This record gives sequence, structure tokens and C-alpha cells, in this order.
Amino acid sequence: MPQRPIYRIAALAVAAAVLLGTASFGFDAAWQSQFTLPAYAAQEPLAATSPGTIGSAAASAGSPVKSPAPGGATAPADQRSAAALPQAQPTPIPVQPQSVALSNRIVDYDIAVKLLDDNQLEASQTLTWKNPGRKPVTDLYLHLYPNAFAPGSTFLNESGGELRGVKMTPGKDGGIDLTELTTESGETLLPRLRYVQPDDGNVRDRTLVAFRLPKAVAPGQSVTVRMKFTVKLPQVFARMGQAGDFVMAGQWFPKVAAYETAGVRGRAAEGWDLHQYHGNSEFYSDFGIYSVKIDVPEDRVVAATGFQYKQPVAKNGRKVYQFYAEDVHDFSWSASPKFVTAEDSFSSAGVPGVRIKLYLDPQHAKQEERYMHAAKSALAKLGEWYGDYPYTTLSVVIPPSDAEGAGGMEYPTLVTGAAAKDDNPGYELERTLVHEIAHQYWYGIVASNEFEEAWLDEAFTSYTEEKLMAAIYGVAPRTAIESLYMTNPQPLKLDSWDYGSSNAYAENVYMRGKLVLKAIEAKTGEKTMSKIMRTYFQKYRFKHPDSQAFQRVVEAVSKEDWKDFFQAYVYRGESADFAVASVRTEPDDEGGYQSNVLLTRTQGSPQAATVLFRFKDGKTVRKTWDGIQSHIQIRLQSAAPLDYVAIDPMLDIVLDHSRFDNYLKAEVPKRQRTKFDVTLGQLIDAIVGGMAW
Ligand SMILES: [Zn+2]
Repeated sequence: MPQRPIYRIAALAVAAAVLLGTASFGFDAAWQSQFTLPAYAAQEPLAATSPGTIGSAAASAGSPVKSPAPGGATAPADQRSAAALPQAQPTPIPVQPQSVALSNRIVDYDIAVKLLDDNQLEASQTLTWKNPGRKPVTDLYLHLYPNAFAPGSTFLNESGGELRGVKMTPGKDGGIDLTELTTESGETLLPRLRYVQPDDGNVRDRTLVAFRLPKAVAPGQSVTVRMKFTVKLPQVFARMGQAGDFVMAGQWFPKVAAYETAGVRGRAAEGWDLHQYHGNSEFYSDFGIYSVKIDVPEDRVVAATGFQYKQPVAKNGRKVYQFYAEDVHDFSWSASPKFVTAEDSFSSAGVPGVRIKLYLDPQHAKQEERYMHAAKSALAKLGEWYGDYPYTTLSVVIPPSDAEGAGGMEYPTLVTGAAAKDDNPGYELERTLVHEIAHQYWYGIVASNEFEEAWLDEAFTSYTEEKLMAAIYGVAPRTAIESLYMTNPQPLKLDSWDYGSSNAYAENVYMRGKLVLKAIEAKTGEKTMSKIMRTYFQKYRFKHPDSQAFQRVVEAVSKEDWKDFFQAYVYRGESADFAVASVRTEPDDEGGYQSNVLLTRTQGSPQAATVLFRFKDGKTVRKTWDGIQSHIQIRLQSAAPLDYVAIDPMLDIVLDHSRFDNYLKAEVPKRQRTKFDVTLGQLIDAIVGGMAW
């Protein structure tokens, strides 16, 4: 999800602009002048899809390529968006499942779900789980995430019924009820259910349930269980739920927990990775196959993970959509009678062939080209930078304004952009979309554990989002300003709910984590850093790596030791703080001046810093302090008195969270400077704290 840091950064930018007198960012103006196609966009349009492609299959089944867009543009999507294709090549898109498994397919779901009129889901599900370990497994664990929206849940306790500034509607809660659970032969397992709360012992939390299997699953063997369940969709405020006739079904079905084998993420012994649904945490699951039938009233258009392999036929006022996905670790869908749809094929180096499908709230029908351009450009860059996008579809859902909480979320091959609130939004439209698409790589394919090391997803995605915005739209990152906001640095390898507040979670997992990556980039150079990111993706795609795996890649590619850096910034959770602690200048015996300067480095790992000395006669001297020790005393002899000293004047040290002490005038007594420092800091806090994000 992206919103927190975006709003936060925006808030910070405003604060910084007010306080420091810098120019405002002016997104709207930037949008007018900068949303132009890249120079390489003048390419030939895509060739018509060839036989055996999703495009032709859908067409032969009578799939409308584009539904009427009320008040929207009128030319077919294919024609107009073809001009925006970065390095497009007409590659057929396979309609059949991949013949080679890309992931260790541990789970296999066969689900039939029916959307009822009263915003309830009624479903049956067959789950086959393969034991990937070397020990027999006696119990299965299922996440029952919709119970996060039931009174007393840990999620509601921790979040206060609010996520990213959107509040729960009183009385519009949700939940999931497992009404049947049997073995393949029909033996009921329901009496064996026991709700577990491994994180907080909150007995009212029913988001994780365990049951003993009649027979242990031997290593390499599988077990199949059948279940029926009903879901009451909450009024959407936190990712899933309904608003009017819009439905976002995310984390909606009983999903088996992830089972980690020995060695995965440094685990000594294999076992389940068990956590409840928390206020700050997202998700973590094993890869596998999903085959899902979605039965909806006939006026609904359904978007879902994977590809639609059969065109629905209306019967008795209903339609059944059928989707299939493999090598994914989750399945979500969304439905609305109002979606304005468009789709197009895209391929490039790194994108073997993908069908991009838009499901837009009518308010954003006119933004179709922007969405399509952003999706194609992001995929092209991601494929080029990191490696192939291995799926044949990418669906983009834009929720209506009253379903804001469903926006800005990633699911395998399906993302939701920011809700359509504004007729002509600024760059937040593109920023949110490219952020969620970047998640396809770090959340979707690499599949980090978002319970325990969320930065491996959100920080990597935020870092990539910045690169995408710069590469596609020329929007410069705001790194120097962001570091100022780090008020509460905490370790990056930390269970998400242990950050305490949602602010602390966002500040570390999104922002400080991203700055850690930028600090690595500052040290290695951009070229080596892109090799690091690519190597990490290639080596750990479909593998659930941990922070140490990333450190090993950084060390192998850069051929340097990064132990101190990772200890300080990742595991101890520090920020850097360089400061000019004192400056004294006085006349010496020879008619000149002698100055004493004390520089300090508190926290962080050893790092060189530029120091600027300016003298009263206007002369300046730049020196580099190696930053190996925690402080250094410098003595200078000069013709003119020292005026001021600044450390890191070019803001190269991206993790320095306290910049107000990086500058000190020789005349200003320390007591007064300290007072000023605190006041300014509080003012920023007050401004940022007063804004919703
Ligand atoms: Zn995100």
C-alpha cells in the first residue's frame, strides 16, 4: 500500500516549504507540462493479436475490448495507447497455463464464490496443501482475515478502526464463518477448530484458526480439505469490503498459513509462520494455483487475479466469471456494475506478453490513457531493470470515491489505484499506480514476509516507485527532505505490530527503509546498485528471502563488507546524525585567527562526510571527514575569523535525520542554537502532525 508515505511526504514537503522557504512542488503544474510521452514512444503500434493469445481468445468469446465510457474518450484503447508503448514488440500472449512451474506450488485452491444481494459472500473451497518440509505435519492453520473486521479483533484494537485516515463505519463490521470443513472423504473437521492468537493472546481475535488433521501429512505428500464459508463484507475502510454496489474482495477466503522450511529466511527448524491480522501488518503466503469461479448479479463486471478463461454467460439474472492463476500467493477480486473497462496487450524486453486490463470508476473514465500509459511504462521499466514479468495479465481497479479504503493496494496480478475522487488528479494517480505495480516484483514475485520484515516489500517498492516516477515522468525524488521526518527510528527487521503506532510503522518500513536503500546507492553508485537490485530479484524470485539474503547480495555485488551498515541501519534501526557540535574562533598571536571545531557522528555506521568551512573574508574550504570515529576535533589557522561550519552541505548523507545541527555559526552561543533547534523541530512536527495521511 502506498498512501501513508505519500501523504506524509506531501505533508512534510509543505512543512519544509513553509519553513525553509523553498519552492513548492506544484504537482498540478508539473502534470500539465511533464506528462508527455517519452522520446522512444514513437513506435509502431502493436500488431493484431495472433491466434492462441488471450486477446484473440477473449475476442472469439465475444469479450468487449472496451465498454462505453460515459463522457469518456471514444477511440478504441488499442489504437490510442499503442503510441505510448515503450519498446513494444508484438509477442503472442499465451492463453494456456505455464508448462513450467516457476514457484514451489505448495497450495492449490479451487473456489466457487457467490456474491449475494446483501453484500455477503457464500463460497465453497477445496484446498490442497503440499508439505514442503522434511517432517510430518499434524495440523493445518488457516487465516480467516475477514474476522479482522469483527468486534474485539486485534486489528480493530490496534488500528482503532481506522486505516490511512479512513474510518470504519459504526455497525458496518464484517466477518467470516466457516460452516463446513471436511476431509476428502467427508469426515467433518469442524469440531477440531481452535482459534489461536500467537501474537497477543487476544481470545476475541479469530483471524487464525488451527485444526488437527486425521492423519499427519508426510513430507512431500499432500492433504485435501473441503470447506464452505460465508463472508459478511464490511463497509470498506481497510482494503476489503463493499461500498454500495462496489465490492473489493481481498483476504476474503480461508487461506492456509505459510510453512517455512529450514533455511528459509534463516530458519533453523521448519514450521508454520503464524500471525494474526494486525493494524500495521500486511500479508505473507505460499505460492500455488488458484482456480476461482465468481458468481455475481449479471450487471456486475468482475476483475480478478489471474486470467479469465471463460466468458460468462448471463443466466437467471446471474453470471459466473472463471479465473485461473498460478505461481501466485493470493487471489483477490473486485466487482462493480459501473466499471468502465479497457484492455490492451503489451510486451517489451522483460515483459514477454501481458494483457493489461483497466476497471475504472466512471469518474476516471477520462483518465484511461494515463492509467494505461503508467501501467505499460512501469512494467517495461521493471522488466528491463529487474527481470521478466512472469504473468500474462495485470488488472487495475480504480475504486469509487466512497471506497477510498480499497484503493492503493497490491494483490498478485491485480492492483488498486487511488480511489477516483477528483476529475483530473495530479501525479498521485501515476504514483499510486506505479507503486502498486512495483509491488508485483517485491511483494508478488520475491514474496517477502510482510509480517516480520515488511521493509523488504514496502521500502523496496517505495524505492522502485521513486525510480519509476523519475524515469517515466521526470519527477525528482525528495530524499533530502524526507530524512528530516525520521523521528522514531526502529529496526527494520521487526514484527510490523511492534512498531507501535502506524506513524512509526510507516516512517520506518516505507521511508527509512527506502533511505537505507538510497544510502547503499549513494555508496556504491547507481550502476552497482541497479546490479544489486537485479541480482537480488533474480536470485530470490519466488523464494521468500530475508534481510540477510539482501545483505549477502549487496556484499557479493559490491565486493565490500556491509556488516556495520546493516547492523546499524537495518538491525539496530538507527539513523545517522552528523553535527557541528561547537565552533570557537579567536585571534592568535600572529595576527590571524585560530579556530576549534568539534564534529560528531552519533548513531549509524562509519561514513565519510564533507565539511565546509566558511571564513569572514568569504573564503571557503571543503574537507572530508572519514567519520570512522564518533567525533573529531579540528584546529584551523586562518587569516580571517571563521564564520560558520557546515557538515554534509550537499545533503549526501540521506539517512541524517537531524540536519538542523549540521550547521553552526561561530558567533552563535550553543545555548541559543539548541533552543532554536528544538523550536524548529517542534514546528515541523506540529504541521505534519496536524495533517491527515
Ligand atoms: Zn505499498
